[in-house]
Amino acid sequence: MNATYVLSQKGVEALARYVAPDTLFAFDLDGTLAPIVEDYSAATIEEPVRITLKRLTKLATVAVITGRSRQDAMTILALQPQLLVGNHGAEWPDQEENLNCRHATICQKWHECLHSMLHQEQGVEIEFKGESVTLHYRKAADAENALTRIYAAIEKLDPAPRIIGGKFVVNVLPMEAFTKGAALVAAMEMFGLKRAIFFGDDVTDEEVFRLQNVDVLGIHIGMDNQTAAPYYLKKQSELLGVLNSTVAVLESHC
Ligand SMILES: [Mg+2]
Repeated sequence: MNATYVLSQKGVEALARYVAPDTLFAFDLDGTLAPIVEDYSAATIEEPVRITLKRLTKLATVAVITGRSRQDAMTILALQPQLLVGNHGAEWPDQEENLNCRHATICQKWHECLHSMLHQEQGVEIEFKGESVTLHYRKAADAENALTRIYAAIEKLDPAPRIIGGKFVVNVLPMEAFTKGAALVAAMEMFGLKRAIFFGDDVTDEEVFRLQNVDVLGIHIGMDNQTAAPYYLKKQSELLGVLNSTVAVLESHC
């Protein structure tokens, strides 16, 4: 897959066709809006990005679709996009009062099982997120070994989960939970928007990049030969420039 650099002439032209008030601007959080950090609980959005994103919410519809729980993501964002979907596409705002009970029960059970199997594993952290469980192994001295142990533990889970890998994380979700791709399509329908731009950096974001028959401009953060996204930014810090130009174009529409 040969993705095009967004800040090349061809990339800028493609982006320009999508930047409009009736486009859904959708973003992953970690590694996209927020730089990846060693300690996942310490992730933050840099202030210039936050300010620009806030301006964007006044000019167009913004959705953040993240693997984190909504509550966790809300704290990091410290601003209100029109839509915030958590748990890799599964957790929607109106579910807060009654989390999908079946999914939550399954995840609770998985969490307990994983904890009993992996609690002595050095550098492995297990995060229960209501409707998914994330296993972090960034801090493991031997990442390969930690991953092998994580997969061995996941294999024992009942019911068998959907597994989504990532950067030093493995996520387990109920088989029938919404993916990020399904979430983006549902968001476009909800807002009545026919076009979207989506920025993401991780394996879970590929579900968006692989969408067919939906008008989405996919932009991968970082160069990656495996991505299905047609466009990319070289690094996360380049997002601010794109956001600034986007806001400037939208303001000229007003
Ligand atoms: Mg990410």
